[in-house]
Amino acid sequence: MSTADAAANAPRTNHVLVVGGGNGGLSIAGRLRRAGADVAVVDPNETHYYKPLFSHIAGGTAHPREAARPQREVFPKDVVWIRDAVTGVAPEANEVRLASGGVVGYDHLVLAPGIRNDWDAVPGLETAIRTPHVASNYEFDLAVKSSRLLREVREGTVVFVQAEGPASCAGAAQKPMYQACAYWRAAGVLDRIRVVLLVPEPTVYGIPEIDAELERKIEEYGIELHTDAPLRSVDADRRTVSFGAGEEITYDLLMVEPPQTAPAWIAESGLADANGYVDVDPRTLRSSTHPTIWSLGDAAGTWNSKSGGALRKQSKVLARNLAAVLAGDIPRAMYDGYGVCPFTVSRNTAVFAEFDDQGRLQPTLWRSSYKESRRNWIIDRHVFPKLYWNLILQGRA
Ligand SMILES: Cc1cc2nc3c(=O)[nH]c(=O)nc-3n(C[C@H](O)[C@H](O)[C@H](O)COP(=O)(O)OP(=O)(O)OC[C@H]3O[C@@H](n4cnc5c(N)ncnc54)[C@H](O)[C@@H]3O)c2cc1C
Repeated sequence: MSTADAAANAPRTNHVLVVGGGNGGLSIAGRLRRAGADVAVVDPNETHYYKPLFSHIAGGTAHPREAARPQREVFPKDVVWIRDAVTGVAPEANEVRLASGGVVGYDHLVLAPGIRNDWDAVPGLETAIRTPHVASNYEFDLAVKSSRLLREVREGTVVFVQAEGPASCAGAAQKPMYQACAYWRAAGVLDRIRVVLLVPEPTVYGIPEIDAELERKIEEYGIELHTDAPLRSVDADRRTVSFGAGEEITYDLLMVEPPQTAPAWIAESGLADANGYVDVDPRTLRSSTHPTIWSLGDAAGTWNSKSGGALRKQSKVLARNLAAVLAGDIPRAMYDGYGVCPFTVSRNTAVFAEFDDQGRLQPTLWRSSYKESRRNWIIDRHVFPKLYWNLILQGRA
């Protein structure tokens, strides 16, 4: 083989290779590109979703077209897009393997493939989600289905389920519930509907100030709250869920947040912590074992509650640290563990749960952001989507 042939067949090496072109992948790619790095992003999907709007779609306060854009339109300027899926990493060789059979090299690798919805983890759920009485706000098509089903309810039992274990914006299962209750109340039918909420933890969210706000809304809407109530199984034929210590409820409509897990190839590549997420220093976001590997977002083994708000802070820290390392310095920026879950508690108010990785309130918008307010809603529903499409994905916010 000539030198030219060998060069043509050698894996292409990217200065920085990012796996995943979602919230975390594009925002870090934009930042690093502007810092002068050559950046390529691997992602197979042609459509980019703004997931926080899935809850608004399900709850009937956003149109589906607001949450989806062609990936090519939102890619940061001068970042290369490799339309493929990663199937594994060979960290000793600084290479990733692609589903198409190719191999791509890197000097530094940023892992941002997000989290997987694991519909198989609860017996019966995978079958049930395809029936006309079960939906979810955790996937785009299912959020559209949820919107129609919730709007049609006039009586009966509607059960909302929050997943057990780490999840993307774990409280998001509750958001369409409050919105639906406000809608049913305005339609004069709330009294005829038994609304049930199952949460796996001992309280509705786990942070006292947030619990107090949510419990007030739960009482106001007459929602039946079950704590320590992880979903055990779903029987789609009997339209029954089993939860907690074996209790059962029969539903007319079931809204489920699926259990979520890290992509399996992270562990198969020897890069995972005990829970399957990328093993990183939770402050610097650099791999604990491989100094050329970094991670942020839902796939990273950090201690915070997984959310886009957490990512905004992580992306700034990771960009500064990686730029420092590329310049021959050491990583000094530290992620403070911030996370957020904006709860839409009616059709025009929201509660912002902003907290650190020890569960302490950490308001960034205003001191009372954890209280229900109209201005929280305006930020969540109108300001954040604009910020996301125009600035966050370009790594500018
Ligand atoms: C219903 C819902 C509501 C939410 N609400 C909020 C909210 O109100 N506020 C908030 O801050 N956060 C919210 N979040 C959380 C927020 O959306 C996530 O934290 C954020 O999207 C995580 O970004 P990420 O880049 O880690 O993953 P993602 O944005 O999921 O992106 C992952 C990307 O990786 C790609 N990918 C996956 N596997 C591979 C592979 N093998 N090879 C290549 N590419 C791959 C995917 O195609 C995808 O584009 C919500 C999430 C959900 C699901």
